[in-house]
Amino acid sequence: MGAYLDHAATAPVLPEAADAFARVARELGNPSAVHGYGRTTRRIVEESREEIAALLGAEAAEVILTSGGTEADNLAVIGAWQACAAGTADTAVPPGLIVSAIEHPAVLESAEWLASDRGARLHIAPVTTAGTVDLDALAGLLARPESERGRIAVCSIMWANNETGAIQPLPAVVELAGAHGIAVHSDAVQAAGRVPIDFAASGLAALSISGHKFGAPVGVGALLARRDFDMRSHQHGGGQERGVRSGTVNAAGARALAVALAAAVHDLSTEADRLAGLRDRLEAGIRAIAPDVRVWAGEAERLPGHLLVSVPGTRSEPVIFALDMAGVAASAGSACHAGVVGASPVVLAAGGTEEEARSALRFTLGRTSTAADIDAALAVLPDALGRARAVLEGIR
Ligand code: PLP
Repeated sequence: MGAYLDHAATAPVLPEAADAFARVARELGNPSAVHGYGRTTRRIVEESREEIAALLGAEAAEVILTSGGTEADNLAVIGAWQACAAGTADTAVPPGLIVSAIEHPAVLESAEWLASDRGARLHIAPVTTAGTVDLDALAGLLARPESERGRIAVCSIMWANNETGAIQPLPAVVELAGAHGIAVHSDAVQAAGRVPIDFAASGLAALSISGHKFGAPVGVGALLARRDFDMRSHQHGGGQERGVRSGTVNAAGARALAVALAAAVHDLSTEADRLAGLRDRLEAGIRAIAPDVRVWAGEAERLPGHLLVSVPGTRSEPVIFALDMAGVAASAGSACHAGVVGASPVVLAAGGTEEEARSALRFTLGRTSTAADIDAALAVLPDALGRARAVLEGIR
């Protein structure tokens, strides 16, 4: 009996979204073309854009369709910094950026690239042991004189963390940054479809989402961006999507994104309770199997289906491998590059030890998760942990 407990990596595609994608993919006509075919496809895109906007408390004109979360994050962070740099070319201090220590690489590595290649002043806001951004430290960063920290092009703090699910204190971040006239972008790739989002009420200048995290096929996402959020495009061509995201618009993807998001938002509150119940059952079961387990961000408000744990005396990779052999799909906290699982940067940022970071296991639940999945995982976990301990003993 198998169990898919890796919904944060990619959620199963919703049948209605797959059907919508297939139907629109058969439509003839580039949405930018002026003939009837093009106008039909354009209408599908614009209706989808309006639906996506309404579901997220945004205006249709604020929705910039992208290929996914990575592109939306790159566009917001790099685009905003480049626009700011163009406007401050005459000043001695290059513009700065603030990101949290637990941002996804799509944000963190964009910011690091701006620092190493473009001279951006990069400020990394630490997180507390609860796994949320340290507001005192952030306030301290913001209070530094502009001559020292640079003019901050954007402050990028995720809505919810991809490893722990910890929901970040965005209202406080927006207030702190706003007091200095600084725009905030939030990577809401994990949050969208899992918790309510009201872009207008949030006070954010920009927000990223990705379709494959909530039931659309891979290959479509969006950046919500207020009209006054200045961005330079780093993709040049036909000038689609407010001129910042050139390239033929993915009409089938836009339709599937709207359909999947509508379904996720519709079921949101009932799903949240159901998933939190399943997650708690899994957490309790793991505590019974491994009483010395450490649960990350357990004290914070978390996304309902996320659970990140570290089991002392084990390593993520052999546990995940053994679980996989038993038909249970989970992941390590850290991204897996070229098949090698490293230490979880989120555990390290939250004050965990190297040992804890190297033994992190992430279980994420979603729409198709059932109690049987939890029981299947708990049934094979003791053996998987035992194997990992044996591997580690062998190395020592
Ligand atoms: N941001 C977060 C928080 C994520 O979890 C992910 C994917 O795991 C991304 C960005 C990247 O999104 P995409 O896979 O759509 O490029």
